[in-house]
Amino acid sequence: MTNQEIWQAVLGEMELNLSRANFTTWFKSTFISALEEDKAIISVPNTFTKAWLEKKYHRDIMQALEKVVQKKIKEILYKVELLRKAPAGERVDGITASDASALSLPREAAAKEFKVNRFGLNTQYIFETFIVGKNNQLAHAAAKAVASSPGATYNPLFIYGGVGLGKTHLLQAIGNEIAKQNDKKPLYVTCEKFTNDYVQAVRTGHGKEFKDFYRNVDLLLIDDIQFMGGKEGTQEEFFHTFNELHQTNRQIVVSSDRQPKAIPSLEQRLQSRFEWGMIVDIVQPDLETRAAILEAKCREKSYPLTSDILTYIASVIQSNIRELEGALNRVIAYHQFNQADPTLDSTKEILANIINSLPSKSVTPKLIIEVVAKFYDIEIVDLIGKSRKKELVVPRQIAMFLMREEINTSFPSIGNEFGGRDHTTAIHACNKVGNEVKQDQRKKQELESIKQLIYSF
Ligand code: ADP
Ligand code: MG
Repeated sequence: MTNQEIWQAVLGEMELNLSRANFTTWFKSTFISALEEDKAIISVPNTFTKAWLEKKYHRDIMQALEKVVQKKIKEILYKVELLRKAPAGERVDGITASDASALSLPREAAAKEFKVNRFGLNTQYIFETFIVGKNNQLAHAAAKAVASSPGATYNPLFIYGGVGLGKTHLLQAIGNEIAKQNDKKPLYVTCEKFTNDYVQAVRTGHGKEFKDFYRNVDLLLIDDIQFMGGKEGTQEEFFHTFNELHQTNRQIVVSSDRQPKAIPSLEQRLQSRFEWGMIVDIVQPDLETRAAILEAKCREKSYPLTSDILTYIASVIQSNIRELEGALNRVIAYHQFNQADPTLDSTKEILANIINSLPSKSVTPKLIIEVVAKFYDIEIVDLIGKSRKKELVVPRQIAMFLMREEINTSFPSIGNEFGGRDHTTAIHACNKVGNEVKQDQRKKQELESIKQLIYSF
């Protein structure tokens, strides 16, 4: 087993005993950077995660790791390290697509007009508009290679990665490239369409037409193959389609939100077919790449923004490119609508709205109390109780502050939530925490983590 596989297995163990939100918050972007004898080094994205894993999950991680490697582990160190360059076929952030976004932003991009031609291709997804960064350079290079000599280099090409990271864009770019050659016939379909077509064909007795259609292409692009998991009939049919195309050197490109072996209920024989060719991943882009993507999108839209604004947007929207584009569109739309020049301040205001607008509907004082108690590992009754112990007072004040900041609870109501305290107590707490956050970077980060938890429930 490679370190990566070992860590995947450890994460699998951890996931069993944690809520989705906790798992995502603390294990996203972690990986094993070294494993020797009885010692392991786990890389984590920031100091807060480091402290948290050391404090809360160390023992569980140790046990899970011992279980996976089947030997005693003496020491685990947690080291802060940003995403490294990903070798082929490996996955750095160690999580699946559904976990990829902690923030749920509106999906303007998804609603974008989708102009498709007869090959199922949208002509705006081309190589020229795809920004290459460390996070996707292998996938991009493989896609380019496949587009320039289909069927000859990597067949099949399997691209995987989280939501909104550019898989569909790359598949489409390959298709669009091939479509330029008049004698070649590419076909892009989502796994869902393939499945529906197949089911429909069987139902209406058009199996032959189905086969003729899918086996008569030079390039077959199937998007989001993970949805084929558990669909036995479709898998069987796809297996034969695959073989027919492959044997005649026609190119197959597949995308998925995870590696072949991690797709539940995917037949072994399909899994192994996917491993015949090249498997590449796309991970989350770093700040620099996110800023470059924003810059390119601004240029496309002929709406220039200053670099401090671009960097700001790139620094707050980290999860994926679809959300990044959504945020950018909001910023542009707002300023166009109000005929105002974008400034850093106005951008901050708009993004604060985006980030807080959706979730605030479901966030309640009770939820904040619950999350804060959980975060500091204390009982709810103690958090809202009378004790003046420091370990309770600090979290209590933070909970009060969050109620005020996040959901605008009135001071008297905050007092009520905490066993009928006076509203002046709430005012004092909010001022105090507010000041601390301004001065203390650690405190600020701590609050960010709690907020992330609150909004992921
Ligand atoms: P996925 O299929 O992985 O969920 P998409 O391919 O749909 O993601 O990408 C989401 C959006 O982000 C699309 O509008 C796409 O054009 C854009 N995008 C993704 N990666 C890049 C990139 N590297 N450069 C430019 N735009 C990108
Ligand atoms: Mg997609």
